[in-house]
Amino acid sequence: KQFFVDSLKGMAKLSEEQRDHWTKLDSDIGDGDHGINLSIGFRGIMDKIDQLAEENPDINSLLKKSGMILLSKVGGAAGPLYGSFFMKMGGNYPDRTEVTFSEFLDMIRTGIEAVQFRGKAELGDKTMIDAFLPGLKLINDYQESEDPLSFFDSFVRAMRAGSDATIPLVAKKGRAMRLGERAIGHRDPGSDSSWMLMNVFDQELK
Ligand code: ADP
Ligand code: MG
Ligand code: MG
Repeated sequence: KQFFVDSLKGMAKLSEEQRDHWTKLDSDIGDGDHGINLSIGFRGIMDKIDQLAEENPDINSLLKKSGMILLSKVGGAAGPLYGSFFMKMGGNYPDRTEVTFSEFLDMIRTGIEAVQFRGKAELGDKTMIDAFLPGLKLINDYQESEDPLSFFDSFVRAMRAGSDATIPLVAKKGRAMRLGERAIGHRDPGSDSSWMLMNVFDQELK
């Protein structure tokens, strides 16, 4: 459980550090608030994290409450999407204070599926799903014999490559859709924040 508390704190720190960068990406092909949205959302979590950790003995309710903060504090597409990710990720493991590495991967899988269910984006639509799906594919192929740390490194690398792959695309979901071909040549902001947020888990595993 402490791993999740530390990860949420790390994500809050990351969101401050990357706020201007994500906002810049979003000003190229969106409305320029992605960094602001995430920093507001994770600041909301940060303000309450110690209280949340105390009031919620199990991982699932800690993550659920954190996701609800993202959902309620963040206007815009990313708030509800990341909100669903955290709200749903612990659903298969209620009342647990610890999970194994494979269970943790299953939690991430559940989170990604929740984002896809909520946003209805497919691979190639130029959204965060373009980063999440290559990672999900690796999780689906994970073998218990693999080293957790190096597996998670490759998971994050796959997500990063998925984000790189959004650059030449025309958007089929989200605000960037309206730009048509003018979105070509720009990285999707949500695909960048998603691999970087998952990278915080990677750093906390080490
Ligand atoms: P808004 O577009 O409402 O201002 P943000 O700027 O915070 O919200 O988030 C934009 C990001 O949300 C996009 O870069 C994209 O990755 C993601 N996004 C938008 N719509 C969807 C969707 N339907 N499914 C998945 N991700 C989406
Ligand atoms: Mg935006
Ligand atoms: Mg907006």
